[in-house]
This record gives sequence, structure tokens and C-alpha cells, in this order.
Amino acid sequence: MQKKIVSLNELTRNLWWSWDTEAKQIFEELSPLLWERNNHNPVELLRHISQDELEARSYGDFGKKIDAAHDRFTAYMNEKETWAAKNAPELVERPVAYFSAEFGIHESVRIYSGGLGVLAGDHIKSASDLGINFIGITLFYREGYFRQYLNHDGWQMEDYPLQHPEHLPVEKVKRADGSDLVISVNIAQSEVFAQAWRLKVGRATLYLLDTNIAENESHYRDICCRVYGGDQNMRINQEIVLGIGGVKLLEELGEKPAVYHMNEGHSAFLTLELLAMEHAKGATQEAAKASVRSRCVFTTHTPVPAGHDRFSREMMHYTFDKYLATTGITFDDLMLLGSEDRNNIYGLFTMTVLALNLSRAANGVSKLHGEVSRAMWQHLYKDKEVADVPIGHITNGVHASSWTCGLTDSFWKNHAGSIDEMTLSREAAEAALATVSDSELWSLRYSLKRNLFDFIDRYLANQLFHQHSNTFYNEYDVMRSPKNTFSPDVLTIGFARRFATYKRAPLIFSDLDRLDRIINHADMPLQIVFAGKAHPHDDAGKDYIRQIVHHSRRPQFTGKVIFLENYNLGVAKRMVSGVDIWLNTPVRPMEASGTSGEKTVLHGGLNFSVLDGWWPEAYNGENGFAIGNGEFFENHEEQDRFDAEKMYSTLEKQIIPAYYNRNAENIPTEWIKKIRNAIATIAPEYNTHRMVRDYATRYYLNK
Ligand SMILES: *Cc1c(COP(=O)(O)O)cnc(C)c1O
Repeated sequence: MQKKIVSLNELTRNLWWSWDTEAKQIFEELSPLLWERNNHNPVELLRHISQDELEARSYGDFGKKIDAAHDRFTAYMNEKETWAAKNAPELVERPVAYFSAEFGIHESVRIYSGGLGVLAGDHIKSASDLGINFIGITLFYREGYFRQYLNHDGWQMEDYPLQHPEHLPVEKVKRADGSDLVISVNIAQSEVFAQAWRLKVGRATLYLLDTNIAENESHYRDICCRVYGGDQNMRINQEIVLGIGGVKLLEELGEKPAVYHMNEGHSAFLTLELLAMEHAKGATQEAAKASVRSRCVFTTHTPVPAGHDRFSREMMHYTFDKYLATTGITFDDLMLLGSEDRNNIYGLFTMTVLALNLSRAANGVSKLHGEVSRAMWQHLYKDKEVADVPIGHITNGVHASSWTCGLTDSFWKNHAGSIDEMTLSREAAEAALATVSDSELWSLRYSLKRNLFDFIDRYLANQLFHQHSNTFYNEYDVMRSPKNTFSPDVLTIGFARRFATYKRAPLIFSDLDRLDRIINHADMPLQIVFAGKAHPHDDAGKDYIRQIVHHSRRPQFTGKVIFLENYNLGVAKRMVSGVDIWLNTPVRPMEASGTSGEKTVLHGGLNFSVLDGWWPEAYNGENGFAIGNGEFFENHEEQDRFDAEKMYSTLEKQIIPAYYNRNAENIPTEWIKKIRNAIATIAPEYNTHRMVRDYATRYYLNK
């Protein structure tokens, strides 16, 4: 039995389990309560279960499940016939180094904030599945991103529980002589040290740099404290550790990446270290730049000028003083690399400009975002027309097997072999769907909804209990009355994402009377679930949360509109799998891509969105619903009014009737047709296997 316990421990040390549903179920089955309490973290879970109990449990069926999962894991790790081996052997021989300020791999590893991190997490998992030799680089945020809870007024509160390395599946990176691998970077006049940690993500490796070590002056230990925490000074320090520190780490490890991929501009300082290495070898300025450019690719994610990272000349001077003295790069050279105007190096330093200047290829993350980015950066390419600005696009996707829950996973196993086989191509998806009857699809939907509402019931009980534990008003009792619980028979909308104001979470409350009539319709009611975090500095975003919480307490909406606190990858998965409609209301074109709607399709949910980000590419009139037709108004209020009107009328005239229009077996055939169309047209295209194959063939290999 000892062997099974060793196997189980081994499974906890590689995040592969996070996208193998049956492996994950082993941990849950071990102790559902401890699994919940420990944020679905198997390393912590096993710390709470005695050796004796584990031994007792590892007999019989449970032991067999452990063996089966371990066998699958071993086979996965040793697989040689991968996509990359056949199609991109260069990317097996030498690694791709992928730099990102955040990685959202699983909720138990809190080193992500939102969509950018989730994308990076899904990217590294697909790279592993496809057999690409892949190294991720990020920071080890000891406090991660905050845990959100709401006070009695619905105001967001933030709490930063520490993540101890011994509670995570990370290990210290060591040198050959057994000493800790610590790199250093120059910041201002100081040398700042960072310990490297290793996190295994299937066949890929993620390195995390950690400045919270004794070697550092105390004010530098905090650099890797929080995801996007602190001020501009903290930001530039984080970006130096990530970019410059990351390259130094790869050097120390003896890695010779085929390509350096910057996921957003945060990591663009990596190009400076690559330049410095060329200078040290005696290369001329131009040769050094050409060499760096030939190895770097850049993905931009920000469709508005103000969203790009910029640093003042003074801050650059102060921060890079010592660094430049050691590298053969002058301060003027540096400023020129990051200046939007080549004739004026006295303005701000823009990370995106640095990244564009020193990459051989750049891309936006949807077709529309590619267009927006070319127009936005055309001034850097004065000799080129907008259409010729060298920024392409690869539309974001999601890692299908990470985003399927137990029910959906077994559903696609039954009908296609696996979710990955179903999402391989449109033909594969259609073939799988041909084996599914309308009633099977509808019963899957019903079960998924019931699962979500069971979850909500437990989650909300806990949330309302601590929100009101100090007050007499007991919202909890009100919510728990039978007439106020969510019903799987009712059309359900989900809205969850970061509460950046451009996403306009409260738009559906623009006309309360109309919403009241929709929600409380006698035969065709509606219920809505919200979740999402506002950045700790974003009071306007927090106010949106408060508004929604207040609306949810109005008598006409009680039990029909709810806000779930502490949105994270786990809550996201519950929501995208259970709701019928995934709502998205960004101000066009501010959503570079968005991915959450792609997750819901895998479960038979339908999108209802402004034609922004990935949606205008995917929407065909039959596979979901659009809000408007891409109309643009200069005036924000006019835009909001227009979009809200379109949202209400589409709900009233199309969505609600289609959902409630049933045949003799009480099945909404028109609705099911849309689900089939959505799965066939969206799932095979908007996934990260397709996305990473595109990056590999078009950006990583193509020089
Ligand atoms: C998918 C996901 C996102 C991205 O959502 P968008 O609607 O695409 O912005 C953000 N946060 C979490 C936790 C997610 O799972």
C-alpha cells in the first residue's frame, strides 16, 4: 500500500491533475470537506490526512483509481508521439520561454488576477499537451492576488492570505552543487536577489522568482508580494525581476530558448538583458538588436492607449542607473527603445513600444483587436499604412479539458472519446453531436444547472453568514426561504469577470421596472448570478459591485439576482458550466478578446454579448446572441442607453421565448439547435490547442 501513497503524493507534485478530471476526483473523494476547506489544494489536503488513514483508504476501488490515474500520468509524461514531435521538432529540441506577470493554472495557486493570467495558464497546459518544450517564467507572489469578501454594505474587502511554499507543489531550484539557485538584478543602486522555484505543469515547467529572501534589503523583499500590487515604483521593480531576472535564470539553467514570448508588455525588459548579453559578446548595436529581435515575439492585450504600462523618464533614470553602467547600453539608447516618438526621448517610456521594437513578430488577441492595435500603433511605423503595421492576430482560446467539470467530461468521453477529441475539428464536433439526442443534451444541461445551484446554496450560505454575523438583519434566512432559491427550471444568466468599469457589469439594471417585469414574469422568469473582483485601487469598480449587491436586495430581486464573492478559477468553472446564458457587456472595442464565454460553450451554454473581442469572429447569427451590431457612440451615456435597450429587447424577443418554447416532451428544440451550432462552430476553434498550434507554426517557428 506504501506504493499507492507514493503515487498519490507524486500526483500532487505536478499540476497535471488539475486538468485530469478523474485524478482531481480522487482528491475530492478522499475528503470532500477538507478538499473544500483547503481551496482544492491536494498538497494541503494530504497534510491533513494521517498516514494510517491513507493506508486504510488505499485498498479496494479507491486504490485502483490511484493506480489508474498514476498510470495515465506516467504515460502522459513519457508520450513521444506528440503534435510537436510530428509538426515542430525544433520546438522539442529547444524550449519556448514564455514570460507572463501572472499564470492562472488552478485556484489553489494564487498567482493570477484575471483573464491575462488564465490565458497564460491555459497556454502552458496546451503547450504541454502538444509536446512543445515549454518554460514559463513568472513571479512568486507570496500574498498572491487578494481574496475578496463583501462587507454588510456590499463593499469589496480584500484579504491577503500568505501562500507558503510548503503548501504548494513548488520546489526550490538548486544548482549542480546543491546550493539554492538565486539570481540577482540591479535596481537603482542595489543588487536585488531572487530565489527560483519550480512548478511542474504537465510536461512544461513554470519558474517563479521570489524576492522574499534574507539576502535582500527589506524594502526589496516585497517586490514579489502581490499580483499588480503597489505603485509605479513597485511595478517597475516587478517588471525588472520578471524580465531581466527571468533571462538570467534561463542562462543559469543553461537553457537556450528558440524563442522568447512576451505575454503582454510587463516582461519586455527581458529584451534589455538579451541586448546586454549580445554587447558582452562584442556585438555592435545594430547586430545586437537584430539578434534580439530574431528571437522575440510579443502579444499585446490592451486595446486602449491608457492601459499600456508607461514609466517616467525620471523613474527610468533612477531605476536603471546601475544596470546601464554594467551593460553597454546608454540611457539615451534605452529611452529611444521605449519612446513613442523617435524624435523625442524626453517623454514616457512605454513597455509596449520596447516590446514592438525588439520583436520579430507581434500580435493582438482577436481579429478586431488586431485591427485596433494596428491603428493604435501606426504612428510607430510612419512609412506604413495602417493595414501594413506589423501586428497580426491570434484569437485567444481556452484549455478545454481544464474547463470541463465532471459531468461534462464524462459526457464528451461517452460521445467523442474525450473533450480534446470533440474539439479537434468542426467535423469531430459534429460527429460527436450526431450521437447525442436532444433529450440527452437537455438532461445534461439540467444536471449541470442543478449542480451549480447546489453549489450556490452552500457557497451563499457561508457568504451571507459571515457578512451578517454582526447584524440583526438576516438576509440569509430571507434567501433560504423556498421561494427564493434558484430553480433549474428558470432561464439563468451568468456574468463574471474582473470588475473593470468598461465591462459595465450593472448595465442590465439600467431600467429597473423593465428588469422587474422580465425577472418576475409569471411563466417565463429569469435569474442572474454575478461574480467578480475589482482591482483594489479601483473604487469605481467596487462601486459597481456594491450597486449590484444593493439591487440584489431589492424585494423584487431577492433570490433572483445574486452576487457570489471571491471569483476565482474554481467559481468560474462552476458558473460557466451551469448557466444557460453567458452575458458580456464591454464597451466596444475595449475587450481585447475575452475568453470566459468560450468556456461556457463546452457545457452547452450560449453567449449573449456585445460584438467585441472574440465574439464578432465567432457569432454567426445561430450560435448565440449579439447585443447590437457593433454601433459606436462618442457619448458614453448614449452608448450605454443604446446597448441596454438592445440587451432588453433581445432578451424579451429572442432569448426568453426561445428558451421557454417547448415541444411535447418539454424540450426547447430551437434552443437546443443553437447549443448544437455553438458547440460545433465555437468549441473546435476557440480553444488553446488551436491557439498554441497557431503560435507554434506562425510565430515560434516562422522567422
Ligand atoms: C476566464 C476567466 C477570466 C476572463 O474572463 P473574461 O470574461 O474573458 O474577461 C477572468 N477571471 C477568471 C477567474 C476566469 O476564469
